[in-house]
Amino acid sequence: MQAFEWYLPSNQQHYKRLQSKLDELKSVGIVDLWIPPVFKGTSKHDVGYGIYDLYDLGEFDQKGSIATKYGTKQELIELIKSCHTRDMKVYADTVLNHKAAADYKETFEAILVDPMDREQTIGEPHDIQGWTGFNFKGRNNKYSKFKWNFNHFTGVDYDDITKESGIYRILGDNKYWSESVSDELGNYDYLMFADVNLAHPEVKEDLFHWIEWFVNETKVDGLRFDALKHIDREFMKEFIDHCLNLFGDSFYRVGEYWSGNEEAKLKYLDALDYNMDLFDVILHYNFYEASHQKENYDLRTILDNTLVMNHPTLAVTFVDNHDSQRGQALESWVESWFKPLAYTLILMREEGYPCVFWGDYYGIEGEFSYPAQKEWLDRMLKARQKASYGDQDDYFDNPHCIGWVRHGNEKHLTKSASLINNSDDSQILRMFIGTDFVGTIFKDALEFSEGEVIIDEEGYGDFRVNAQSASIWLN
Ligand code: CA
Repeated sequence: MQAFEWYLPSNQQHYKRLQSKLDELKSVGIVDLWIPPVFKGTSKHDVGYGIYDLYDLGEFDQKGSIATKYGTKQELIELIKSCHTRDMKVYADTVLNHKAAADYKETFEAILVDPMDREQTIGEPHDIQGWTGFNFKGRNNKYSKFKWNFNHFTGVDYDDITKESGIYRILGDNKYWSESVSDELGNYDYLMFADVNLAHPEVKEDLFHWIEWFVNETKVDGLRFDALKHIDREFMKEFIDHCLNLFGDSFYRVGEYWSGNEEAKLKYLDALDYNMDLFDVILHYNFYEASHQKENYDLRTILDNTLVMNHPTLAVTFVDNHDSQRGQALESWVESWFKPLAYTLILMREEGYPCVFWGDYYGIEGEFSYPAQKEWLDRMLKARQKASYGDQDDYFDNPHCIGWVRHGNEKHLTKSASLINNSDDSQILRMFIGTDFVGTIFKDALEFSEGEVIIDEEGYGDFRVNAQSASIWLN
């Protein structure tokens, strides 16, 4: 589960709230939690991606509070301990691309670049004042003595002399944007705030030291890497190798490479020797399209061009996340009616490592509120625990109704017949269960379809699904 959403209340209670949900989550089979960035951000309201200090996990009085938006370091460590006593794992969100809310401004030479093509400069090099000085006074050298200055960044988005915003590339010997990043907008090294210069040896040294400290301090079981599109591939490869050396192969790695360009992602995976999972962004966009096009979408193509088809063991499949939520930068919210269909696809099929979104499960608060879908998701998660095992037979013939059967294994004898339908009418798919199942009764675990299906003498069942709905039939 992605165990947060963008609009959680900033009351420093989330670690405690999560703690209180662990037994409930474990009982439906959610055993791995991706938690939000746990580092001190720009303020206690920061969702966590505006990173100020990677060494402040809610321990020091910095940026207006000791706790982060989610709680204190002590509460975080207790949460992780509680997960481990339940055999649950915790993956931490890691933001290496930028730093925010510097302690002081500095004067240095920079050049403005075209925001739509960052390889093109505008005007001449000149001195600007940028917020690039970090001394972390509240931490007072604990855990690391490293202080950041403009040499440790490649670019900023504000000049305090002219009070003008723009993308300013910081000049210096042998200094440029990272080369091995997305080539969108010419060079997509710069995303936001002060962009970290990962080619600087002091930066690298401190980040390598930091990750060892962070994992030993918190005992997290893995990392989710933010904004990979903007982070040098060569740096990431070294960083991941460093993690594997320190923490072993079982230390989990997943990256966010937000792009509808599947080739760019495959290139990244290749550069990293396939040492990392990636979120399946194209599958999410397919869900988004299907949810908007309704019966005009051909469901037979829903898995086309997705990571889960190209690299099933490296794909983390998801329906929505904190960035695709309404009101967010990458807003692409999957319409409500399609959520059960999308979740059936990620939870009941063999391929992929599915991730349930907090905002779908527990709902979203505030201006962009969304009701909790927990009731049917619990039924679906239980169906997954029971009957999402073994061989898979696909029935992808009808553009409006696709289905598949999971045949179980020695430990999981229950079979499942899942089907999703985007048309205005209910549909029936005839699917093969097995001749040893003749006369067996199947019921819809989602309780969307009523009644039962009895397997006929040839081993088939005529499985039903309502209009624009999903069903998961179990014996
Ligand atoms: Ca960058």
